[in-house]
Order: sequence, then structure tokens, then C-alpha cells
Amino acid sequence: MRATQSVEFVTSATAPAHYPKALAHEFVFVGRSNVGKSSLLNALFFNQKLAKVSATPGKTRLINFFQWENCLFADVPGYGFARGPKAERRTWKAMMADYFSTRRPLELVFLLVDARHAISPLDLDMEAYLIEAAIPYVLILTKWDALSQSERSARLREYTDTCGAHPPIAFSAKTRVGVRELWKVIHDHCAA
Ligand code: GDP
Repeated sequence: MRATQSVEFVTSATAPAHYPKALAHEFVFVGRSNVGKSSLLNALFFNQKLAKVSATPGKTRLINFFQWENCLFADVPGYGFARGPKAERRTWKAMMADYFSTRRPLELVFLLVDARHAISPLDLDMEAYLIEAAIPYVLILTKWDALSQSERSARLREYTDTCGAHPPIAFSAKTRVGVRELWKVIHDHCAA
């Protein structure tokens, strides 16, 4: 996959009025703050400047849209910055409710979870929301390089029960494991 030439930042938005015009396909990346979403986007698009790796959890507060060919990729703010003010958490919920309710038919959600830990209650909430709203999703197990072989086997067993439209994808921005598989999912959806 040579994506760098054609992937472009489109716009940032908080409200539907500022979303870009929908394209043929749309993919959205969601996950807890610090899950490795910026690193994944950089690995996926070979572009270290495309999604700034944030040092501070919850730093990104906007939905960032990128375009590649006839696809839009939406990078939504990480959830679960528990230390953040309550009002901020409410804003996040409202922003996501707007996004999911107005951006239909949404193609596919990539739900990122940190493979180093068991699935968190917040991730389970997110997953329950997607199931309830009948939005197809794929679980991405991030930071796969940080796990031992036995941890990997245990984690895969655990997550295979909670998987969405596709078996979970083990991913590492460091070793690039999972990059090809993720692109295959994107291609398959675009070709379907
Ligand atoms: P975001 O807040 O979800 O965008 O997460 P970032 O991409 O900023 O990453 C959060 C932290 O996790 C940083 O310290 C990264 O270096 C680390 N990280 C991200 N991806 C990986 C990975 O694949 N492997 C390991 N070991 N660490 C990672």
C-alpha cells in the first residue's frame, strides 16, 4: 500500500455543520485516550505529520477528517480522559452522538483497545453502543509488540468472544504488524 501520496487532511470539526461532504466510504477510528490511535494513523499512512502523536491523553478534541481516494477517515477524540472536567466529558458524548447519528450510512468503525490490558468498562460501553446502533466495527488490539507470546494467546482468546464484524486485528505501530490486514479490511469494504 502506497498511501502517502494521496492521503490528505481535509478538515477538523466538532459539529455536523462543519463536517466535509460525505464520500463513497467512511471509516472512523475510536478508542480511549492514549490507546495508540495517532501512532496507528501514522503507521497506516506512512506519514508522521498526518496525525500528531499526542503526549497528553485527551489532547485532541476535534474530529479530524482525512481523505484517501474516495474514502474519508474520521479520527475522533479519544474517550475516557477521566481526569478531565465533567463538562468536557459531556461535550465529547454530545459530539459523538451527533457524529454517529448524522454520519450514516457509516461504513465501518475501527475500535482500538490497548492489548496490554483487559478490555475496560469504557471500551465495553463503546462496543455496546455500536452493537445497539447496528454500526459495524472491527476491534484493533494496539501495542501488540509490548506483549509476551503467552499474553498474546490469552488476549486473542479473550477478544475473540467480543469481536465485531471481523476477527480482532493485532496491531503494532512499532513493528507494523497488522498494517496490511487493516488495509485489506479497508479495501474489501471499498470493493464490496
Ligand atoms: P493516542 O492518544 O491514542 O493518539 O495515542 P498515541 O499514538 O499518542 O500513543 C500513546 C502512547 O502509546 C505513546 O507513548 C506511544 O509511544 C505509545 N504507543 C503507541 N503505539 C504503540 C505501539 O504500537 N507499541 C508500543 N509499545 N507503544 C505504542
